[in-house]
Amino acid sequence: MKGKSVCGRDERMWKRIYDTLERTFPSFAVDEWWGVTDPFARMAGSVLVQNTTWTNAEKALDRLREAGLLEPAALAGETAERLAEVIRPAGFQRAKSAALLGLAGWVLKQGGVDRLRRSADGTDELRRQLLLLKGIGQETADTILAYALNRPAISGDAYSRRLWQRLTGEVLSYEQVRRAILAELTEAEDLRRLHGLIVEHGKAFCLKRSPRCSACPFADDCRDFHDSI
Ligand code: SF4
Repeated sequence: MKGKSVCGRDERMWKRIYDTLERTFPSFAVDEWWGVTDPFARMAGSVLVQNTTWTNAEKALDRLREAGLLEPAALAGETAERLAEVIRPAGFQRAKSAALLGLAGWVLKQGGVDRLRRSADGTDELRRQLLLLKGIGQETADTILAYALNRPAISGDAYSRRLWQRLTGEVLSYEQVRRAILAELTEAEDLRRLHGLIVEHGKAFCLKRSPRCSACPFADDCRDFHDSI
């Protein structure tokens, strides 16, 4: 970010954050980062990871795969009780089994994952429909849109909000961050990469407690870091 301060908002700041993160993590690959490439598995994973770690979500995902349930029709035909038992490692299994059943039903109603990915419905319309489903909140909906349905979407999750707050001192809501990013970046692939890179940066440098500022690529311009020294 050298050459232009990031301590203050401007109209290209997310783009410059993205460029810096691309240089910082040159080998970053979305598919490797996710660990799963199948769109329906990513949909299920987006639900399973709610309020838990990806490690736990992945265990539940593996159990769904072993049970032959990582397919919309098979999953939709399962009982909530049995499904809850299968996904137990992810926690909140009753709520998540209900959300998975609702999601699978929606996918089937839309004609399947492939049809959904080619749907003429706009991203905002698909987002609206997803948000009507039980157990699908903004972050889950935006993750599904971006990583399963190949739409230009991104979540304004805790990693993004923390990074923005520390760089600028400005506290933004989920929706404010989401809209700010979408105002600068419009390509689905860029948005997928940016979100993954923000998470990687949040885990490698901008930790919730004890951030590793001296090694961070934003250190020269970060308001939080400058205020702390
Ligand atoms: S300098 Fe520190 S607080 Fe600022 S973005 Fe980097 S890790 Fe986060």
